[in-house]
Amino acid sequence: MAKIDLRRVEKRYGDYVAVETLDLSIVDGEFLVMLGPSGCGKTTTLNMIAGLDYPSAGEIFFDGQDVTAVTPHARNVAMVFQSSLLYPHLTVRRNIESSLRHTDLPASEKARRITEAVRMLELEPMLDKLPSQMSGGQRQRAATAKAIVREPSVFLLDEPLSALDAALRLSLRSELVNLQKRLGTTAVFVTHDQVEAMTMGDRIAVMSRGRLEQIGTPDEIYNQPASLFVAAFLGSPPMNLIAGEIAEGCFRAGRLSVPVEAAPGPATLGVRPQHARLADVASAETLPATVYALEHLGRESVVILEDEAGMKLRVLVEPSFHARVGDKAALAPDPSFCMLFGADGLRLP
Ligand code: ATP
Repeated sequence: MAKIDLRRVEKRYGDYVAVETLDLSIVDGEFLVMLGPSGCGKTTTLNMIAGLDYPSAGEIFFDGQDVTAVTPHARNVAMVFQSSLLYPHLTVRRNIESSLRHTDLPASEKARRITEAVRMLELEPMLDKLPSQMSGGQRQRAATAKAIVREPSVFLLDEPLSALDAALRLSLRSELVNLQKRLGTTAVFVTHDQVEAMTMGDRIAVMSRGRLEQIGTPDEIYNQPASLFVAAFLGSPPMNLIAGEIAEGCFRAGRLSVPVEAAPGPATLGVRPQHARLADVASAETLPATVYALEHLGRESVVILEDEAGMKLRVLVEPSFHARVGDKAALAPDPSFCMLFGADGLRLP
């Protein structure tokens, strides 16, 4: 059991602020995903939770106990890194076994855990190999197995799936969540992959430039983004973001006009590709553009438009839709699904 609280945690490297006054509560048994672009402070935060790095200010609590100055070993956490450490002179089997060497578990329980981890990570064929005889992805899987068998109260995972091929990554996503739920372990999972975040997290903490932008369920983060940054970071194909002006109850950008209920001033209109349609280029109150490309995704297609200012816009269409590059079309957002962001980047009510 472990509930983790970060209170006003900060990390500075000289003058550089890697993590800025972070307040974060991770519920016992929760799968929390920390999502954000490279350099936003995810790994630094994870390392502070692990005890591999110490905050410049603030405190960290495990189940109400201040662990800020406690060593990693005493925190009962298991970490899986992007490039996790394996003992180079030990086979995969010995590496995994080494995780349980200092426990007093019965041999049958040790064997059960190892068998399960080996099956889950498809490590059977490489049990007798040394790390140097394996690919990066295989090493990653072995390191994950090594962490899993300990069944710790906290799993800390730093992009553990990033070096794997697409098929294995897909199956491991649900396997990891299933295992975590079965064990009731609290997990903090760092990634910059929004699909991983959306599919695995009970909640997602979106970080940007050392700050927590928003924390919420995948549904909240996707449907109620608090800022332009979150709106732009989640969703594939990405949300269309159109800069313009609110005046007289309408958002306007060039010929585009959308009725809105917000105070006048500069604003950005956000509309997801599934909430816009293509209209005749001459239609009033739409955004005129030219077809730039058509992407087939199988179940649907994406029309990429380019407006007169060179901005790319995306609209989801049926897979049977036909268009040629250079065709004229207009983007018509569905007003009931549009979002507005103010000049400060925050969502307007
Ligand atoms: P990535 O996805 O690329 O791993 P991240 O979000 O995990 O990125 P961090 O590794 O937490 O980012 O780094 C946050 C910032 O702190 C980065 O700008 C990084 O350059 C800086 N940083 C990290 N460690 C140090 C250090 N030891 N000394 C100085 N700066 C550091």
